Amino acid sequence: MATVRYSNATRIYPGTERPAVDHLDLEIGDGEFLVLVGPSGCGKSTSLRMLAGLEDVDEGSIHIDTRDVTHLPPKARDIAMVFQNYALYPHMTVYENMAFALKLRKTSKSEIDRRVKEAAALLQLEEYLSRKPKALSGGQRQRVAMGRAIVREPQVFLMDEPLSNLDAKLRVQTRTQIATLQAKLGITTVYVTHDQVEAMTMGHRVAVLLDGVLQQVDTPRALYDTP
Ligand code: ADP
Ligand code: ADP
Repeated sequence: MATVRYSNATRIYPGTERPAVDHLDLEIGDGEFLVLVGPSGCGKSTSLRMLAGLEDVDEGSIHIDTRDVTHLPPKARDIAMVFQNYALYPHMTVYENMAFALKLRKTSKSEIDRRVKEAAALLQLEEYLSRKPKALSGGQRQRVAMGRAIVREPQVFLMDEPLSNLDAKLRVQTRTQIATLQAKLGITTVYVTHDQVEAMTMGHRVAVLLDGVLQQVDTPRALYDTP
């Protein structure tokens, strides 16, 4: 469990003039589900990738709890991320897909087994553990991708448009599943979407970005009430 703090965090891509993310000041509470929302190109992914260590921070800093992670490599950050194209390993079963990262870390077999089965139960994947990804629906694959992330028991969970490859009906279902899972785990979560409905229904708080600049951060209720 952890808090996240962006302090004046700025990213200017080489060869560009305007910052993609411009002096971002944002604190995300322990166990909070924060949604970053805004139109395409407003800097959502860049903000998330800076937190994950996948993008340089050119000015300012990022802290997880009291730890300055601004210049730490991704692996040193204790963060797990789910992308929109959640590529699973096609030749591995669901079980093996979820176990893989833990195997690389030399986690013991019994501990891997415990964590994979716990995640599978949370994500309603218990019946599918022996299947290969091609024998799963889009929604099930998406849940495996989340399972792969949560078995690592990270401090912070990041999702970048995780529902964009699902059809409309499945998006609504999966929205609820993600919110429920986050609440059960109580894990600090930053979720990126361009979909305002998604933002307003899922976020404890919603941060609105426009042209790299944070416009407002508030609860969905307060945002609805803003004239
Ligand atoms: P969003 O996730 O909200 O769509 P991004 O963070 O991907 O926005 O992009 C923010 C801005 O930075 C956009 O203007 C985009 O064109 C630019 N950008 C993103 N990645 C790069 C890159 N690798 N090089 C140069 N400009 C980039
Ligand atoms: P390895 O290839 O390293 O021997 P396996 O993938 O064969 O590892 O599995 C090791 C353990 O993982 C098994 O003893 C079992 O407890 C568990 N396991 C593997 N696949 C499944 C599955 N489909 N359902 C439940 N548990 C599984």
